[in-house]
Amino acid sequence: MTFQRVAIIGLGLLGGSVGLAVKEHLPGIRTSGYDADPATRARAATRGLVGTVCESAADAVRAADLVVLCVPVGAMGAVAAELASALPAAAVVSDVGSSKQGVAKALAEALPGQTIIPAHPVAGTERSGPDAGFSSLFQQRWCILTPPANADPAKVAALAAFWEALGANVELMDAAHHDLVLAVTSHLPHLIAYTIVGTASDLEGVTESEVIKYSAGGFRDFTRIAASDPTMWRDVFLSNKDAVLEMLQRFTEDLTALQRAIRIGDGDQLFGHFERTRAIRRSIIEEGQDDARPDFGRSDHGEG
Ligand code: NAP
Repeated sequence: MTFQRVAIIGLGLLGGSVGLAVKEHLPGIRTSGYDADPATRARAATRGLVGTVCESAADAVRAADLVVLCVPVGAMGAVAAELASALPAAAVVSDVGSSKQGVAKALAEALPGQTIIPAHPVAGTERSGPDAGFSSLFQQRWCILTPPANADPAKVAALAAFWEALGANVELMDAAHHDLVLAVTSHLPHLIAYTIVGTASDLEGVTESEVIKYSAGGFRDFTRIAASDPTMWRDVFLSNKDAVLEMLQRFTEDLTALQRAIRIGDGDQLFGHFERTRAIRRSIIEEGQDDARPDFGRSDHGEG
């Protein structure tokens, strides 16, 4: 089974990138799309993010065999309910949300009886909106599918083939495990970045211009992450609450251990820890998940 008509709901960074990647890698597929914001719809039409920009979510999905929801995770259930009456019974509904258990539950409630195969392409930038998307976003990135236990294997295989055609490597995972893994690899790092940028800007005795002027000391790499979309990240933390709190607890314990090592002057502990973390960075580069260049190669992709 292969998909012929794909509907994309939400035409920001992720939705726009899916549309552009389909146009480039799967030109035989017809795409339609919808975004709640009229200005975004107009911009999506100008950029050609999808073949047809529709005036409602229902119109966009009417003839679709695959629907990809690319809205913030807190909006997934409402969007699904909005398009439910127009959805073909055989269509596969998927999404790109950054947390999976909450989204799977919201979609199953809004679309009883429909085939739902949640997905999360682990690829993104700190930019958002209809001008942020680009066709190579998914190249060499992982896309995690979290099909329910009773999912039709042929439909799961079709969705996996779709993402592979867009350049991604696909992995299947249980939704709860996905949420735990992403809590530590993505959600916690964002929380830390949001915290440290806030801490620096609230400091008394260090001016904001000093923080900006001397940001190359490390701070500026956090500011890139802390510039990520506020709506998206509010929703991620609220929907993946338990896993994030669990990881935050572990992080706090580890931070306390380093704090103690600094206080008692335990250089060996600090050195050993930093050596271990440096090796993890090397592995990420060796596996092609980042670039060793000082700007992480981001200028090549129009990223921040
Ligand atoms: P984005 O650029 O802000 O795009 C989301 C779009 O959805 C916006 O245009 C938004 O319009 C629209 N929207 C919101 N509610 C809607 C509704 N009810 N009906 C139709 N359209 C609606 O955000 P994004 O980065 O593409 O994120 C989309 C999804 O991808 C999120 O679930 C996020 O967790 C996931 N994701 C993001 C990244 C990343 O790095 N950014 C990576 C992987 C996965 P308004 O602006 O008017 O609200």
